Amino acid sequence: MIHEILPVGPLHCNCSVIGDEVTREAMVIDPGDEIEDVLALVRKHNLQVKQIVVTHAHIDHVGGAMKLRAATGAPILLNQNDYALLKMLDVQAAWIGVEDPGKVEIDGSVGQADTVRAGSLTANVMHTPGHTEGSVCLYFPLEKKLIAGDTLFAGSIGRTDLPGGSFEKIMDSLHEKVMVLPDDTVVVPGHGDLTTIGEERQSNPFLVKN
Ligand SMILES: [Zn+2]
Repeated sequence: MIHEILPVGPLHCNCSVIGDEVTREAMVIDPGDEIEDVLALVRKHNLQVKQIVVTHAHIDHVGGAMKLRAATGAPILLNQNDYALLKMLDVQAAWIGVEDPGKVEIDGSVGQADTVRAGSLTANVMHTPGHTEGSVCLYFPLEKKLIAGDTLFAGSIGRTDLPGGSFEKIMDSLHEKVMVLPDDTVVVPGHGDLTTIGEERQSNPFLVKN
């Protein structure tokens, strides 16, 4: 598996470029911004982008999706429960003081138990509402890797005080879907450092039991 992680935009959203080493087919997850740099990584590995997956409709994760689609022809996938949030990108832009990226068109919804493929790589979609209604995580079972969006961070969890957020829902998502993964699963959060499920089980203040 080719996996490049590029922090993009003023909030340093972790954009993942994930490719099959044999077929060179790839998916890009969370193309928030700096699409020229994302495309440079795609070219560096001689990849063909087949899917653009957005973990949730916050501007720092979705802002560059249309530019990437125009350059690659790949469809943009987002859970349908975030379509309403996607319609307020102009409001979101004002929140963080960036330019409104304009309208983002979604080509298809991805939800619980769906799979997203690129070459021989398969990601299982987990619908993990809480940070937003339509937040999803992508789990690659063979590689034991989780792309967590803003649901789980090293030492923390996603904020739930923005529109569509729910602390109760994010805790349910984490306990029922995320923390049941194997301890040696590598977690790539939407921002910041990588971690593992085992590490978070032991030390994340939101998840330790006692
Ligand atoms: Zn977010």
